[in-house]
Amino acid sequence: MKVPVADLQSVEGGQEHHEFQVALAPLKLAGEEAAFPGPVRVEADLYSNGREITAQVKAGGRLALACGRCLNPVEVPIETSFTETLRPYPRVPQESGEDEDFTYYHHDVIDLRPLVEEHLLLAVPMKVLCSEDCKGLCPHCGRNLNQGPCGCGPEPADTRLAVLADLLRDRNQLS
Ligand SMILES: [Zn+2]
Ligand SMILES: [Zn+2]
Repeated sequence: MKVPVADLQSVEGGQEHHEFQVALAPLKLAGEEAAFPGPVRVEADLYSNGREITAQVKAGGRLALACGRCLNPVEVPIETSFTETLRPYPRVPQESGEDEDFTYYHHDVIDLRPLVEEHLLLAVPMKVLCSEDCKGLCPHCGRNLNQGPCGCGPEPADTRLAVLADLLRDRNQLS
């Protein structure tokens, strides 16, 4: 996803369209990795004002995540679109230092990959389910309850809650 922009960057009003089908490395989420089972499609429109380049990027594909209840793999669509302004890294350091609002590119090449990965990461859904009525795992034996009931029987009442209920009852009787 490296786009040479040596010509484009100096042309005020210049624009280019690029499309890619790329294999991306798995996204690193908190405690797990999420892989792309297939290629990710990326479309980028680059606009130059002669000093900096604005990239309008759309990316989409499918991502494999674990079901939030039963942990079985689930494939979900993932899409992102973003706009990023990119500046050539100054060959001569500027007095004011680097401007944090801009992303810099080096050697007249814009590499879209890190930008796309960063924005796809933000687009990962917080929680996915293999189906709306996924029964999840038994908290006691860990069996996937979608495959049938386990022998654990109904959930016993939580003893800590029972203690709390007793305390509340005592307090009400005192007042
Ligand atoms: Zn599930
Ligand atoms: Zn069980």
